[in-house]
Amino acid sequence: MIALDKQTIRDIDAHGKRVLVRVDFNVPMIDGAISDDTRIRAAVPTIEALRAQGARVVLMSHLGRPDGAVVEGLRLAPVAVHLSGLIGAPVTMVSDCIGPEAESAVAALEPGNVLLLENVRFHAAEETNDPAFAALLAKLGDVYVNDAFGTAHRAHASTEGVAHLLPAVAGLLMEREISIMGGALTEPEHPFVAVVGGKKVSDKIGVLKNLVGKADHLLIGGAMANTFLRAQGYKMGMSFVEATSVSTARAILSEAPHAGTVIHLPVDLVVASQLSSSVDTFIAGVGTVPDNTMAFDIGPATTERYADIIRSATTVIWNGPMGVFEMEPFAAGTLGIAEALAQVNGTTIVGGGDSVAALEACGHAGSVTHVSTGGGATLEFLEGVELPGVAVLRDRAIAAPQ
Ligand code: ADP
Ligand code: MG
Repeated sequence: MIALDKQTIRDIDAHGKRVLVRVDFNVPMIDGAISDDTRIRAAVPTIEALRAQGARVVLMSHLGRPDGAVVEGLRLAPVAVHLSGLIGAPVTMVSDCIGPEAESAVAALEPGNVLLLENVRFHAAEETNDPAFAALLAKLGDVYVNDAFGTAHRAHASTEGVAHLLPAVAGLLMEREISIMGGALTEPEHPFVAVVGGKKVSDKIGVLKNLVGKADHLLIGGAMANTFLRAQGYKMGMSFVEATSVSTARAILSEAPHAGTVIHLPVDLVVASQLSSSVDTFIAGVGTVPDNTMAFDIGPATTERYADIIRSATTVIWNGPMGVFEMEPFAAGTLGIAEALAQVNGTTIVGGGDSVAALEACGHAGSVTHVSTGGGATLEFLEGVELPGVAVLRDRAIAAPQ
């Protein structure tokens, strides 16, 4: 972990203070029940640390896309109940995130108490980053903490606007995300291997460009590999190829050797006549994909090569599945990568919604150094973009040169 250049909750004395904390409680819900509490659990260390400091903790989050209206199914009440169980203490809930009810509930908090404000996106002013709305939020705290890494790529009132109005520092999850991923991008221990897959080159151009020149090896899989193979002139049958990105892929391939990055493409593929979990599949070497078939996974020889390179790495960043891992016949490549990652003696980082789902599905989430909680935020971070919700936090004082 490298030292974060932003102040964190460790740099403040929160005792007795009202601490307004932006968390990411945007959890998946099925019929009003939380189906995955990962994001809630990820915020607990910051909440516990603030309670231990004797802070009056005021939490705020968005949930779903209510688009500026009150949507009953997107109330945060189930999250308050769940959080209360996790921290073993009551979590008070109010029916709005601003206004008299919220203000009096905050005024009633004792040191160590926790309050959860209602969904900030019930107000359209949240996403427009309206300064008047940010000022109403700021009335509820003496200090602001941003622990919502997954929303830090959005300049909204609760992630950015309010941070101009109060002393603003990072929470522990935010610190961990930025220092582990930032450390790998800026001061990686070599060999540094990046694994990039998923569907489209166009979704990941920024990530690919940022990794070329930083990573020693860049392993490409998923449908994205089809576009790169096409750029090298291979016939890909009926496989998904992003025609508009072929020239980008070609440019990345020609630039990489000069930047010190070796790009690896599949040498074999799992192909089938259609995308179905009961279809017959076979292995085709690159250049021999039959006209009437499509590539849906990297082949076994590729998986073995990629796994060898991963196992000899000291830093690995993985974003994007190697195939249609959601279907058993096309899951082996992604599983092979996850298994290799679990064996690495070094720092291993996995980011991206589908990549994290794949890692969890094969039971390896506990074997990597860091599973990023962001989707879009993680991708932007890997692109090297400064996230607005981070930029606005207080800088750490830099020691004067001697
Ligand atoms: P992440 O969410 O981790 O950033 P992406 O969203 O870029 O990943 O890509 C994940 C999707 O790509 C998955 O739904 C997967 O089924 C799909 N995919 C991977 N390989 C292929 C392929 N060869 N053909 C079609 N779809 C693919
Ligand atoms: Mg995705």
